[in-house]
Amino acid sequence: MPSHISPEKNLKKIYEIIKKIEKLKEEKNALILAHNYQNTDIQKIADFKGDSLELAIKATKTDADLIVFCGVDFMAETVSILNPDKKVVVPCKEAKCPMALQLTPEMVKTAKKSGYPFIAYVNTHAEVKAEADVCCTSANADKIAKRIAKDGICYMGPDANLAAFASKGVKVIPIPKHGYCYVHKMFQVEDVVIAKKNYPDAEVIVHPECDVEVQNMADFVGSTSQMLEYVKKSDSKMFIVGTEIGLIERMRIETDKKIVPLRKSVCIEMKLNTIDGVLRALSMEENIVKVDEEIAKRAKKAIKKMFDVMSIVV
Ligand code: SF4
Repeated sequence: MPSHISPEKNLKKIYEIIKKIEKLKEEKNALILAHNYQNTDIQKIADFKGDSLELAIKATKTDADLIVFCGVDFMAETVSILNPDKKVVVPCKEAKCPMALQLTPEMVKTAKKSGYPFIAYVNTHAEVKAEADVCCTSANADKIAKRIAKDGICYMGPDANLAAFASKGVKVIPIPKHGYCYVHKMFQVEDVVIAKKNYPDAEVIVHPECDVEVQNMADFVGSTSQMLEYVKKSDSKMFIVGTEIGLIERMRIETDKKIVPLRKSVCIEMKLNTIDGVLRALSMEENIVKVDEEIAKRAKKAIKKMFDVMSIVV
C-alpha cells in the first residue's frame, strides 16, 4: 500500500472493488477460480479455491459463461482446453510459471523414442501436454506413474523432485534431469532441523516439489490441497509447512491450528494477480486465454487420460 494511503482508505477501496466484482460476476454469469497460492484478497473473492487438479475438475463442471482464472499461465490454459466454449480470462498475463518453461515438446518427443510413456506434470504448456501420453498433478503423480509405466519405467517432467516422489515401485526418469520449482527448491534440510528443534511437537508437512532430502524428513508429503486436508484432519495442534506462503495463509484462516512456515517462500509469478486485475479482467474481459485448436485437442487427450486413469468422471 502506498504510504500516503491510510489503512482505512485502503480498506474502503478494497471493499468497493469487491462490491464491483460481485455485481459483475452476477451480471456476466462469471466464476472466479483461484489457486491455493493466491493472495488472501483473491482467495476471499474466489468461488472456488484449490490445487491444479481440483481447479481442472471444477472447470469442467461449471455452467458459467466467463471464467476468471487466478493462478499462472499453464493452469489457465488447462481450464481453457477443458472448456473450449467458455471465455477464460486472467487478471495478469505476465503470471507465468518459470518451471513450465523447463520442458519443451522436443524434449518429450526425444524421450518417447525409447518407447516408454511420458507423463507431463500439469505444470507444462499445452504444446508439451500435446506430446505427452498422460498428465499428472502433485496430488496423483505416484498413482499415475504406477498405472502408466511400461515394464516398470516411465518419464516425467519437468520437476525432478516430483519424479523422485512418484518413483514408488517404478522407475520414473526425470526430463530434464534437474527440473525444479524455485519456490520449493528454497527449503533446505537445515530448515527442517531448526524447525523441529524449535517446535518439537509440530508435524512437518511439505510439497513433493521440495528436495528429496527434505521430503524424507517430513511426516507428510502431498499437494497443497492434500496438505490442507491433512492439517484439518490431524489431531496435532501445530504444523511446520514447506510450501508457498499463500497456502499457509489459507491454513491459518480455515483451521484453528498453529501453522509455521518452514521458511517464507513466495512465488512471485502467482502474486502478480491482484483484485484490481480481477476487476479489470471481469469488466473488460481482457487477457483472454485461448489455445490453438489442434494443440488443445491433443493436450486434452493427455488431461482426459489422467482423469480416466484416476477414474474421475468429468
Ligand atoms: S510455485 Fe513453482 S511451480 Fe508453482 S507457479 Fe510458482 S514457480 Fe511455478
